[in-house]
Amino acid sequence: MTLLPLPAFDDNYIWMLHDGHQALVVDPGDEQPVLQALQAQGLQLKAILVTHHHADHVGGVDELRAATGAAVYGPAGETMPEPLQRLGDGDTLDLLGLHFTVLDVPGHTAGHIAYFSDNGGQPLLFCGDTLFSGGCGRLFEGTPAQMLASLDRLAALPDSTRVCCAHEYTLSNLRFARAVEPDNTALQDYSRQCEALRARQLPTLPSTIAVERDINPFLRSRQTAVTRAVLARAAASDEIGIFAALREWKNQFK
Ligand SMILES: [Zn+2]
Ligand SMILES: [Zn+2]
Repeated sequence: MTLLPLPAFDDNYIWMLHDGHQALVVDPGDEQPVLQALQAQGLQLKAILVTHHHADHVGGVDELRAATGAAVYGPAGETMPEPLQRLGDGDTLDLLGLHFTVLDVPGHTAGHIAYFSDNGGQPLLFCGDTLFSGGCGRLFEGTPAQMLASLDRLAALPDSTRVCCAHEYTLSNLRFARAVEPDNTALQDYSRQCEALRARQLPTLPSTIAVERDINPFLRSRQTAVTRAVLARAAASDEIGIFAALREWKNQFK
């Protein structure tokens, strides 16, 4: 099975998974990169998985459905390009011989879902705009409490899970992460690796859950160093308040 991030727009990735014959894609905001990849590699598109309703994730769905006849899957609770099969927490689907489980991960949007497969011991996560490498999505529709709970669920996935995020935001996220945790040596090492990849125009993704637990401040808001850094700037009385203040700090960070 081959996993490819197809670049789209300024910083989106449309994830493609294929076995040399059949493919699925996740969050095709634009049909063109997908059609090009299908043609270049002689692949048949079987399925389109969507994580949430934003245009940069759904903009190519209608064209791809019409061009390929692929089945479309998306969240139960969001406005979606119809027709599609709607999915919610705990729903499962079998595609390209892989078994996927759906996780509700509200916060960025109210009905955001993620797709997880253990993929025969090489687990995979398609998490849209919920978890980014070194960061998390903005809270457009959900609350800090919802996002913290969603990130806790993702952080509990196996260490080796490949984290397929929908945007290349890693370097700017890591600049913020280093401001929060200047003494985190794993974060410093990871930052150097990612800077070297971007200098060669290579994706920093997929990341892994193990890496994210070590370097991502939004998965580390209960760690003493992160809590202290937040409380030095803002008042907060509980873990949700600390998470909310951390997200707000990132929103202001230049
Ligand atoms: Zn989004
Ligand atoms: Zn997005």
